[in-house]
Amino acid sequence: MVSNITVKVKIRGVVQGVGFRPFIYHIATHYDLKGWVLNSSNGVEILVTGNPNSVKSFLDEIKQNPPTLARIDSIETNQEIYQEFRSFEIRMSESKEGEFIPVSPDICTCDDCLQELINPADRRYRYPFINCTNCGPRFTIIQNIPYDRPLTTMSEFEMCEDCKKEYEDPENRRFHAQPIACPKCGPHISYFIQNTKVAENDEALRLARKSIIKGEILAIKGLGGYHLACNATDHEAVRKLRNRKKRSDKPFALMAYSLEQVSRYCEISVDEKNLLESIERPIVLLDRKYNSELALDVAPGQRSLGIMLPYTPLHYLLLEPETGFPDLLVMTSGNMSEEPIAYQDDDAEIRLNSIADSYLIHNRQIQMRVDDSVTRIINDTPFILRRSRGYAPNSFPFPYSNPSILATGAELKNTFCLTRDNLAFLSHHIGDLENLETYNAFEESITHFEKLFRIDPKIIACDLHPNYLATRYGIARAEKENKKLLLIQHHHAHLAACIAENRPKLESPIIGLCFDGTGLGTDHAIWGGEVLIGKLSQYIRRFHLKYVPLPGGDVTIRIPARMALTHLWANNIEWDPSFLPAQDLCVEEKNVLRTQLTKGINSPPTSSMGRLFDAIASFIGVRQRVNYEGQAAIEMESMVDFSIQDYYSFNLANDLIDAEPLWNQIVRDFLANASPTVMASKFHNSVSQLCLDICQVIKKESGITTVALSGGVWQNKVLIKKTISLLQQNHFEVLWHSKIPTNDGGIAFGQACIAANTILN
Ligand code: ZN
Ligand code: ZN
Ligand code: FE
Repeated sequence: MVSNITVKVKIRGVVQGVGFRPFIYHIATHYDLKGWVLNSSNGVEILVTGNPNSVKSFLDEIKQNPPTLARIDSIETNQEIYQEFRSFEIRMSESKEGEFIPVSPDICTCDDCLQELINPADRRYRYPFINCTNCGPRFTIIQNIPYDRPLTTMSEFEMCEDCKKEYEDPENRRFHAQPIACPKCGPHISYFIQNTKVAENDEALRLARKSIIKGEILAIKGLGGYHLACNATDHEAVRKLRNRKKRSDKPFALMAYSLEQVSRYCEISVDEKNLLESIERPIVLLDRKYNSELALDVAPGQRSLGIMLPYTPLHYLLLEPETGFPDLLVMTSGNMSEEPIAYQDDDAEIRLNSIADSYLIHNRQIQMRVDDSVTRIINDTPFILRRSRGYAPNSFPFPYSNPSILATGAELKNTFCLTRDNLAFLSHHIGDLENLETYNAFEESITHFEKLFRIDPKIIACDLHPNYLATRYGIARAEKENKKLLLIQHHHAHLAACIAENRPKLESPIIGLCFDGTGLGTDHAIWGGEVLIGKLSQYIRRFHLKYVPLPGGDVTIRIPARMALTHLWANNIEWDPSFLPAQDLCVEEKNVLRTQLTKGINSPPTSSMGRLFDAIASFIGVRQRVNYEGQAAIEMESMVDFSIQDYYSFNLANDLIDAEPLWNQIVRDFLANASPTVMASKFHNSVSQLCLDICQVIKKESGITTVALSGGVWQNKVLIKKTISLLQQNHFEVLWHSKIPTNDGGIAFGQACIAANTILN
């Protein structure tokens, strides 16, 4: 007979607050092992005594079937001196100074909880805060670690006898579910009109639903902040919301009760279905079906709609299908245009009073404001455009050993990144750092992350742009706290983010097609159409779009007509009165612009690819003015006809990408009455063809055959798909983003990777 052994097991990863200890308890008892399990401050520790074969099966089971929400980063086992135990038990947590464990993101309501939610016999029947160890709020309620109820915003709710029993029972699926609650002891909802409470609980819900049916705007307190909701099929209601929110064209996110409802409005592939139903429950951008029921104002000029499925019990109750109740709701962040999402009750009342007709709120505090994540599928894989609720604060592998780094990110779509050991914590989406509220959210979130993950950064990495608020914060902090400071070029950060996401250990340089709107270059010009050859530690700028002026900076970004005329001027093409941008600007405006251009007044040089897209969109008549960044390009993308194969040509000379031939050809097409669809399609094809031509040249020069696509321009689905397939057909290996945003939301991660590798070398 084989004698029993004792083994110590240390598991690291997301293993707390996800039902890990009960899971261990179950399998240990199943294999007749004795000993204990406990949460330590950096994971889970187990000591088991039993038959060696059983111990092996036990370990296999942990690796093969961990709980749904768990993420195991490492398992360490050590045979110890033999110890006898009478049973297997769950012991009290241990915590050591300075150690930490990863925190789970918020997770959508699980099927078990949903079953209880609709079961009249259950004590949590229709209770809007039902949750368990497999689902519910996490990151948005955690104030500090260890993840225990007193350190969450649930601390003010004292558990009732029944909840306590479940909480303490290792056999129960709510064993140590920190946000455990029931109608008797937990948070509850109420309905407010103006500042007056009108109803509570089920009645509150009934009135809230009624207000939606009536075409009113409802503010809803959710998981990471407030939403503004209305009937998406009610034209009047959607228009009212748009006017009140002062959000002129930006598409609204939508929520549908189930896939069946989504499929009435959108095409859904298998991958898109999986993404919609994933536990992260992001907004998924889907190709829309042209359905007359949907209010036109929901997503003007867009080929896709951003839809998500319910992710809290309250959403399920609110959207419950019923005759007369809409099957699709607008669910947009509760804020005025460009401000961060409201998350504190007083704040919401003040900021949303001019928008919402009534409020559906609850009395559980939100610790961390977190927006909905935005994703789409590109070539069968998820492509995260805004990484926030459901994903943050999950870490990424960071295989560069270094002192901790804080990377402060970019100015727009800001996220920041903190590293510790071999992990990088990329923050949730903070937003555009152009108003005080967002900047405050940026500072508060950095402080929170540093506390939560016990990080005291020694190195601070920032963008090169001296006027980015994130850069100013980094410089000031490095000075004050005497930390090492690194300034990092924007497009190199894009390239690095893409390399580190796909090939973290890559040593040799690759081609980086870094196309975006704006990023400061080392020559102080505004870069954005950049072909780099580089790796994490360094890069060279091999090609870039030939500079054109950016007269007046921001004015021209808002008015693509000015950009189109600038490109024409730069290519010595007269402003023919029949040209649409020339018609859009009045005589004085054109005179001022011409003077600015010829005298070079306030006209920094730019190689921006984003601005070239704006200029073309204006020239072919898509739009002459934009209300949000990228609008003209997005609307032009929606016109592309995939059957058109022709393209215009760029010229490659030395290190320049010259668009002169392209402009001459498109002007010729325009004067020959080519349709906008033809010109938009040919233009998209030209950029893909340009990418191939560039890669062929570099391959000839240096033999490099790996290409990274990064930067905001690659959010364009038509362009990225065409380019990937063209490059792959020509035997290039193509890397693009999936979990890290391709836009400026990925900059911080790239900065951290560059910082780590620069210090090393
Ligand atoms: Zn659950
Ligand atoms: Zn209770
Ligand atoms: Fe960028």
